[in-house]
Amino acid sequence: MKPSSEATVSAGPGPERPPVAAPAELLRRLRARTTADPVTHVERVPARAGEPAAWPDWAPGELRAAFARRGVVAPWRHQAEAADLAYDGRHVVVATGTASGKSLAYQLPALATLLADSRATVLYLSPTKALAADQLRAVAALELEGVRPACYDGDTPRAERDWIRRHSRFVLTNPDMLHHGILPGHAQWSGFLRRLAYVVIDECHTYRGVFGSHVAHVLRRLRRQCAKFGRTPVFVLASATSGDPAAAAGRLTGLPVAAVTEDTSPRGGVTFALWEPPLLPADPAAEGATDLTQVRRSALRETADLLADTIAEGVRTLAFVRSRKGAEVVAANARRALDEAVPGLGDRVAAYRAGYLREERRELERALLHGDLLGLASTNALELGVDLIGLDAVLICGYPGTRASLWQQAGRAGRSGQEALAVLVARDDPLDTYLVHHPEALFGRPVEATVLDPANPYVLAPQLACAAAEAPLTPADLELFGDGAKEAVDQLVAAGALRQRPTGWYWRHRERPEVDLRGEGGAPVCVVESATGRLLGTVDGGSSHFLLHRGAVYLHQGVSYVVDDLDLADGCALVHPEEPDWSTHARDVTSLSVVSVRSYVDAGPVGLFLGEVDVTSQVVSYQRRRISSGEVIDTRPLDLPARELRTVAVWFTLSPQALAAAGVEAADVPGALHAAEHAAIGLLPLTATCDRWDIGGLSTAVHPDTEAPTVFVYDGHPGGAGFAERAYGTAGTWLRATRDAIAECGCESGCPSCVQSPKCGNGNNPLSKPDAIRVLDVVLANLPGAVPAPRPAEPDDRQVDAAVPGSGMQA
Ligand SMILES: [Zn+2]
Ligand SMILES: [Zn+2]
Repeated sequence: MKPSSEATVSAGPGPERPPVAAPAELLRRLRARTTADPVTHVERVPARAGEPAAWPDWAPGELRAAFARRGVVAPWRHQAEAADLAYDGRHVVVATGTASGKSLAYQLPALATLLADSRATVLYLSPTKALAADQLRAVAALELEGVRPACYDGDTPRAERDWIRRHSRFVLTNPDMLHHGILPGHAQWSGFLRRLAYVVIDECHTYRGVFGSHVAHVLRRLRRQCAKFGRTPVFVLASATSGDPAAAAGRLTGLPVAAVTEDTSPRGGVTFALWEPPLLPADPAAEGATDLTQVRRSALRETADLLADTIAEGVRTLAFVRSRKGAEVVAANARRALDEAVPGLGDRVAAYRAGYLREERRELERALLHGDLLGLASTNALELGVDLIGLDAVLICGYPGTRASLWQQAGRAGRSGQEALAVLVARDDPLDTYLVHHPEALFGRPVEATVLDPANPYVLAPQLACAAAEAPLTPADLELFGDGAKEAVDQLVAAGALRQRPTGWYWRHRERPEVDLRGEGGAPVCVVESATGRLLGTVDGGSSHFLLHRGAVYLHQGVSYVVDDLDLADGCALVHPEEPDWSTHARDVTSLSVVSVRSYVDAGPVGLFLGEVDVTSQVVSYQRRRISSGEVIDTRPLDLPARELRTVAVWFTLSPQALAAAGVEAADVPGALHAAEHAAIGLLPLTATCDRWDIGGLSTAVHPDTEAPTVFVYDGHPGGAGFAERAYGTAGTWLRATRDAIAECGCESGCPSCVQSPKCGNGNNPLSKPDAIRVLDVVLANLPGAVPAPRPAEPDDRQVDAAVPGSGMQA
């Protein structure tokens, strides 16, 4: 009998089924259906045999027997290595591929400890309730005496909570519940915390950006509470494959963490194709047509066609689509195409999304396993902890943002030992276009590091307030919370939130501080249906002006609503159901002033900077555009207040002389910088784990603070999330890729694949594609390949007054 990871255990092998075409043959048939070959690259990822290991000596017979009953007869070597480290008291992160059996790596030491010490406890954290529920099933199925595993989250009935606190020794929860429930209620949890042996952090790569920085401090608060009882639990983290997981796990926990990264589970081979939908012929008849109207066939349509084609071949296929609406569109189009070919065949495609109940998910999994369903279009809800096996092909509609996600999604394909097909379908976007023409940026390269910044003062201060409300802060605590903690505490004292006494810093208020780990840019705004008073959902405060202004068309679970009123004082938007044949696009005016420079590189006519900036933006109007044609119907003014964001930015400046020498006419400078800025924002996710929506930009021919032509790219989160810092550190690679993406795009004068931005506040005007290349050539000629180690800015060096904010072009 072969050893097995738990991923293959829960769903079973499934019934016998007819063979399907080998991936290479299948791909040949898919390519043959269009005249122009859309495939830009094919990569063969070879199969790998598994490397089983012996059970560790310390694993009790009872536990081995329990795993054997579930079909796991021996661990893989990476599981055994990570388990050994953890059992030895070392903090460890296991960062390996999808379905490589990461759960066994933490279950083994944690459960062995619970069996050996009848008082010990384990706390398990997952980013989603669904994953915690799946893990609960897996642990409960082992039927180990006295472990009493239980989920403790927002859905746990009050009546059960007390029992769990007192009797469960394996509590599964999420960081939000730890933050809102367990840590503030530490007195009630003291019995559990004083015996805490292990803290398991599953899917820890999802804790990135501002959310990740918050979670980092929630974990420090947990460590502080445990330390009061003399407890130092061992942290075991599980991560998708990621760059430098030891450093990321160390940043997250604040502890030295060892990494196990070699995946020794068996894997079938994958044929991986990069697919670029063809450019549609420009339509000269379209009203106001220019070269700019040239676009590619949409990735959604292309994915729907591929899904229909693979299903028609009897191939079990999963299509990953970034949005819920998109997944529904792909499923609907594939269904229609199949029904046209063979009536009834369309019934074998479904859409799958986050928010499905467990029973519904299980039913879909079962139907796919048994072949009642042949195809699913899914959001990335499936990325996390849902077992779907037996797929022959995976279609990825649009680059999912990181190589780590890409591999996780592609890893869904391949039933035991069989070859599988994966296809990345490029969207009409600079990053996707760059990637399908630069396979070296995807294959044979380490995946990106998870970016988080626990020192962000906008995260640190509220987290210190939470900690102080749990127990007064001591000087030793400040060390625990890391860089910037002392300054943050001083600010909280000055603001009247904390009081300093000889014994420490005390929270001054009766109520606890209100801090939302996932909330950004102000309190969330509720979306309420006027006629019924029904709450449809919430939108984070930062996006509310863009999405919920008066007249905005708002989509909720595929249903269209129009906003009647946005009440900012009450934090609610009133809407009514309506399906107009236009979409709405808010436009804003942004200005930016430099507050301070943290670090810079002086490269002759070019300067590269990292620093704090104040961004002021105001949503001033919105456009209504015809859905069918994209034609602008009209632009309507809005009366919304301006908002301020203090954040971190990276920027570069060029001397006007250097631009002129490179052939950029003075009149073309604004369009050149604006185009370079758009593409640079689009390409930043190549080196930082962010989305282009996480970052903003501004470019201007003369900025009052730099007195030069300047392009700014800033974090869209108060205090910064680490993205701009990462951009500064990788500027050579980032701007080189930006330049190549623009230069290699086949369009004439700019398109969404290169310099146009879907979120431009200036309606993508002005833009000059050829001059953007010249601008970036000047920058790259002076900032060769790798950026030299920056020297820190001297105290009064380039400090700039936050004077008259410059007005310029913003993304
Ligand atoms: Zn283009
Ligand atoms: Zn723009």
